[in-house]
Parts: sequence; C-alpha cells; structure tokens
Amino acid sequence: MELLEGKLVSQKTKDELKLEVESLKKEGINPKLAVIMVGNDSASQIYVRNKNKACEYVGIEFEEYLLSEETKQEELLELIEKLNNKKEINGILLQSPIPRHLDINEAFRKISPEKDVDGFNPINVGKLVLGQDTFISCTPFGIIKILEDYNIEIEGKNAVVIGRSNIVGKPMSQCLLNKNATVTICHSKTKDLPSITKNADILVVAIGKPCFVTKDMVKPGAVVIDVGINRMEDGKLKGDVDFDGVKDKVSYITPVPGGVGPMTVAMLMTNVIKAAKNQNK
Ligand code: NAD
Repeated sequence: MELLEGKLVSQKTKDELKLEVESLKKEGINPKLAVIMVGNDSASQIYVRNKNKACEYVGIEFEEYLLSEETKQEELLELIEKLNNKKEINGILLQSPIPRHLDINEAFRKISPEKDVDGFNPINVGKLVLGQDTFISCTPFGIIKILEDYNIEIEGKNAVVIGRSNIVGKPMSQCLLNKNATVTICHSKTKDLPSITKNADILVVAIGKPCFVTKDMVKPGAVVIDVGINRMEDGKLKGDVDFDGVKDKVSYITPVPGGVGPMTVAMLMTNVIKAAKNQNK
C-alpha cells in the first residue's frame, strides 16, 4: 500500500503557485480573494483561517467580510453584488454553512461566474457537466490532482463515489466521468452498497460517518480516497474509511488528516489565480 499524501502534493502545488504569483505581480496582476462568513460557526472560523494562511503563503491578497448571524438575505446579496463589481477582487467565496434563514443557493447564483472560485454557481456546475473549462469545486478538483500526481490512471476504471452532495459527491462523479472513468454514484438509499463498492478500482468516500467503509467492502488493490472529516470524542480526526482495517488490502489510500483536506485549500488558490489571469486577459 502506498499513502496518497495530499499534504505533500498541496505543498508542492502552493510552491508552484507562489512562483506564478510572483511573475503575475511583475505584470501588474495582484490576485485577490474575498471571503464572506455569516455568523460564527467555529469550524468555519478554522477553515477561513487556513484559507487566509494559504493566501499569505502563495502571495494572494485576502479580504474577509464577517457578517452577523442576523444578516438579512438582501444584505448578503448586496455585499456579493458590491464584490462582483469591485475590479480588484478576482475571487469570491461564501463560507458555508450560513444561518438557516438565508438562502445559500440564491447567494451562490449571485456570485459572478467569473469570480466563483468555489465552482458553486449553476453556470459553472453546468459547464463542468458539459466538459467545458470552468472553476471546478475545490475538493473534487484536489482529488483529481492527487490521482494525477501519483500517475494513477482514471480512464476506463470503475470509479464508485459514495455520497451525492453538491459540494463533493456530484462534482466528483462528474470529474471522474470527464476523465473517462465508468462512474457509479451511491448514496443513503443505495441497496447492497458492498456489492457495488467491491467492484471499484477507484473508491471515493464522502459521507461523514467515521470508519464506515470496512475491509470487506473494498476490492483488493483498489485506490481509496477518503474525503470524510469526523471529529471524534478524543478530539482526533477520523475519515469515513476504516484506515487500519483497509490499508493492507488496497494499493493506494489517502490518510485523514493529511490526505484530501490540504488539497482543497491548494485548489482554491489555483482557482483564484486562474480567475485573476482570466480577468486580466
Ligand atoms: P453531506 O452530508 O452533504 O452528504 C453526505 C452524503 O453521504 C449524502 O449524499 C448521503 O446520501 C450520503 N450517505 C449518508 N449516509 C450514507 C450511507 N449510509 N450509505 C451511503 N451513502 C450515505 O456531506 P458532504 O458535504 O459531502 O461531506 C462528506 C464528508 O466529507 C464530511 O465528513 C465532510 O466533513 C467531509 N468534507 C471534507 C472536505 C475536505 O476538504 N476534505 C470537504 C468537504 C467535505
């Protein structure tokens, strides 16, 4: 078994991007990301801090907009509109979750597709489905990048994705299809899940249940990508895959932490730089 060390691939990616930003700055292009956070979800605060740190490292300017828990939908949309119109802002990210009284889908629709570095605007989702150039949402994009970095072939492989969320499962399935895998999507209503996962050459697990995928569910020699981040009672993080049980049966596996998580931030940086370049063509 070989570990797919997202942490290392992420570092390499950020180092490459840092050099790219240095040369863009010489051309007068200063990539800039605006992050909107509504309320004070503690996990979101950590995610936003990590994104800020990564921006600092790569040389991307970072602007944070903290809105109160009581923010009205119109106020959120007005802020997005203002950022859409600000020329110096290249990427806009709305950190989820946002308070329940707000409509996040309407907010994602409002973010200009050219600045939608999370790839959640339906226009960009549609482009992904059509196989057109777009902003791919950062977690699936990062997973494809890890597979490519380790020279793992996707074309012609049986890929199974467990989870169909708009953020991970659906765009992941589409990315694998765009790379010519034969893709099966499983979810909470799927019957006899092991019979499907046992055929997976590439198994991506994104459900949010610790150690859900066990040894008997994986094919010998499979490539296993564990997207899950589950905080246990002892404070440790666990993935959706029973790592210790599965590791000797598979060819490659991502650890948690240090696998998919760090890639998500690196791909956000990639998308912001792409947006800055597109907007300065
Ligand atoms: P979600 O709750 O939106 O979706 C979970 C999906 O899992 C659903 O589609 C559901 O149908 C499916 N599911 C639930 N129980 C199932 C079962 N018993 N059998 C089969 N399918 C089942 O979650 P999400 O936002 O996609 O996140 C999934 C996990 O990935 C979470 O642990 C989350 O923290 C993590 N995550 C990690 C990153 C990262 O950067 N590494 C990014 C996003 C999400």
